Amino acid sequence: MPDDMTETDRFAKERERMVEFQIRTRGIRDARVLAAMRKVPRHLFVPKGFEHAAYEDRPLPIGEEQTISQPYIVAVMTENLELRPESRVLEIGAGSGYQAAILAELAGSVISIERIENLADRARKNLARAGITTVRIVVCDGTEGYPPGAPYDAIIVTAASPAVPQPLIDQLAEGGRLVAPIGPRDCQDLVKLVKRDGRVETTSLGGVCFVPLIGEFGWKGDDL
Ligand code: SAH
Repeated sequence: MPDDMTETDRFAKERERMVEFQIRTRGIRDARVLAAMRKVPRHLFVPKGFEHAAYEDRPLPIGEEQTISQPYIVAVMTENLELRPESRVLEIGAGSGYQAAILAELAGSVISIERIENLADRARKNLARAGITTVRIVVCDGTEGYPPGAPYDAIIVTAASPAVPQPLIDQLAEGGRLVAPIGPRDCQDLVKLVKRDGRVETTSLGGVCFVPLIGEFGWKGDDL
């Protein structure tokens, strides 16, 4: 690589490669999703010392036994939310704030819930460093949803639970989409729910492995 390339340019090149070889070639075709993933500086959302690995094809640790998801999984989940510029989005599991940053590029408003205060603080800092000002991070139990912002056009759950928490289904707008990993502790099925005429249609998007969703309508702390 030429010596006169700045670090910012180098990361931008790595992002290009990530989108091309990890995401586009695996079938993600939504141009807005691809553009958002080309744009958001993922290296600002990983812990210090992990920047060199930020664009690799895998999840990474972010502290507190939690992880930032593999880029491809972020893309699949985002594409299935079918976001429009005016969409109102709820995320459960802010973690590093990276997924929320991608959502903010594509939707009108984003509320992201995190149960661990430390991670919420870091996510707010990461988003600010990336210049993203339209995400609200709230610390509470996301399995209860967030009634003040409901109903939502899209809900994304980035931690795994045995079943979809009922409050989230209740807070989904008519025509709204919800994507969540559902199943046992180790690995789960990524499901997509669409609410039509008050009923819910469910489809499967494939196998995934997420950290547990801990709360009233997820795993109880003492189940773990
Ligand atoms: N979306 C994140 C990765 C999420 S990791 C990113 O882009 O980096 C899953 C996160 O869900 C963890 O930070 C964990 O603390 C959080 N979590 C688990 N149970 C939760 C709950 N009931 N409410 C809110 N957040 C929860």
